[in-house]
Amino acid sequence: MQTKSKKYICLLPAFLMLVVFTACQKEFTLTKEEYVQHIVEQVRTDSLESYVRWMEGMGTRFALADNRREVAVRIRNRFIAFGYPSARLDSFYLTRTFREITYSLWQYNVVASLEGREHDSFIIVGAHYDSYAADSDPLTLAPGANDNASGVAAVLEIARIIRKERFRPEHTIRFVAFAAEELGLHGSLYQAGKEAAAGNKIAMMINYDMISYIADPSSTPWLVNIIHYDNSLALRNEAAELCPVNSTLTPYSDNTSMNRSDSYPYYMSGFKALFFHQSDIETTYHTSGDRVSAGNFDYCSEIVKASFALIVDKNY
Ligand SMILES: [Zn+2]
Repeated sequence: MQTKSKKYICLLPAFLMLVVFTACQKEFTLTKEEYVQHIVEQVRTDSLESYVRWMEGMGTRFALADNRREVAVRIRNRFIAFGYPSARLDSFYLTRTFREITYSLWQYNVVASLEGREHDSFIIVGAHYDSYAADSDPLTLAPGANDNASGVAAVLEIARIIRKERFRPEHTIRFVAFAAEELGLHGSLYQAGKEAAAGNKIAMMINYDMISYIADPSSTPWLVNIIHYDNSLALRNEAAELCPVNSTLTPYSDNTSMNRSDSYPYYMSGFKALFFHQSDIETTYHTSGDRVSAGNFDYCSEIVKASFALIVDKNY
């Protein structure tokens, strides 16, 4: 008995090596391009739509509304559920006058990190979660489905997949849901300022704002606006090259809105940033009619795929 079982024990290391080798073989035999495609293909249209529906269901995400901390906590809890136990709120104080009332309130960015192989360089993937509606009382109603639950949905979906795949990025990825963008890019001004003050190396910043509306889906090719800054043209060109490989989109550049979203403070702090944006603007922009029902999540998922490819490619 003893002799026999010893024999099996001797074989055990060889057997374990075989198991490990077989398990790893698939990963090792994929080229970088194949690995990027393998990850990007996992973006789900129904996931994106469900996150947007969930955020619209919060009633309002207006930065001065009483529920603002609760909204941030709910987004943080999503990150935790996706496998980011250290996801946290990063708060800052804001004083703003709105409709003749002055508010002095804490605001809450949500930050979730995936540790990179290099510990001192970062990639920021962000979108603002606050909303606004001009035709209602935004303190109680501002659904903000396209602007900008769609952007937050992109950040969440990328965070979900990258964690599930156990991807170990080169740079630490910081996923950020920004507060108070609609009142003047406050969440990103705070966050970018903090990175700059700490002297952190930011390899790139990817921003999403309004990515689920397309006026006529039957008209092809579908377009995506990749907005860049004067220090990020090369990065923009890399993103554009990955577009047709990993999505059905045709990229173009219209930088008119470059200073109107959360990538701008990062650029102003000296970091390379890109801003992914839909090509059409809906008539329900900044109204209580900005609803999930008007979104096209096949289009949205193509924008997520195109940008996700860049994030994995630059982090391989
Ligand atoms: Zn917006």
